[in-house]
Amino acid sequence: MITTKSEREIECMRHAGLIVALAREAVASAIRPGVTTKQLDSIAEKVIRSHGATPSFKGYNGFPAAICTSINNVLVHGIPDHTVLKDGDIISIDLGACYQGYHGDSAWTYAVGEVSDEAKKLMQVTKESLFAGLRQAKPGNRLGDISHAIGEYAESFGYSLPLDYTGHGIGTHLHEEPPIPNVGTPGKGIVLKEGMTLAIEPMVHVGKPFTRVLNDDWTVVTKDGSLAAHYEHTILITKDGYEILTINREDTQSIYG
Ligand code: MG
Ligand code: MG
Repeated sequence: MITTKSEREIECMRHAGLIVALAREAVASAIRPGVTTKQLDSIAEKVIRSHGATPSFKGYNGFPAAICTSINNVLVHGIPDHTVLKDGDIISIDLGACYQGYHGDSAWTYAVGEVSDEAKKLMQVTKESLFAGLRQAKPGNRLGDISHAIGEYAESFGYSLPLDYTGHGIGTHLHEEPPIPNVGTPGKGIVLKEGMTLAIEPMVHVGKPFTRVLNDDWTVVTKDGSLAAHYEHTILITKDGYEILTINREDTQSIYG
């Protein structure tokens, strides 16, 4: 079932989104060569809990950490551990917070030290594809308009988008209906309505769109070993467009990273 949220529910989601943004900023400022992904996880969990929220991912289907840390050819769901970040890596941080029963979910890809031009371009295009999708988020448009805008933008640079991982509705559950693919046909799919809350999240590969899951049953890597990037915001469909919920309004930089 696709739900629309009441004003009270939206306030909880704004608050959850702010906590996600604060945790994302804290992690971002700690990313540098020499830090471990487990250290980043601890920072995020501390920020989330210090604001009276719980990490949405911890325990979700048995996931063992507060954040996903996905390095280089890891697309999503990397598990924080003692891996040390190196100069030239890129790392996608995906994190969620639950405040008074409502979730926020956001992901961002960061450069560790100085990265290759290929990595910089992938990150830039993936981030821009998120905003290309968001520009289609308004009442009366259809879900396929968002999906198409994301996919068409990223593919115009020769990149690919895996079909097996999608965005999603979000609210009292981290993942709600509808799934939101990153490729699609304009004019198709459900009609967007004011009050819907959606997590839009392009995942983009430099190489082919195929993925595989490692033996830990979580870590998703690109099958051809190519670099991958991931950007995500939780949004609210408003009367005439959208509002990003996973931002810190005091720091507008956090909208664009
Ligand atoms: Mg996420
Ligand atoms: Mg998500």
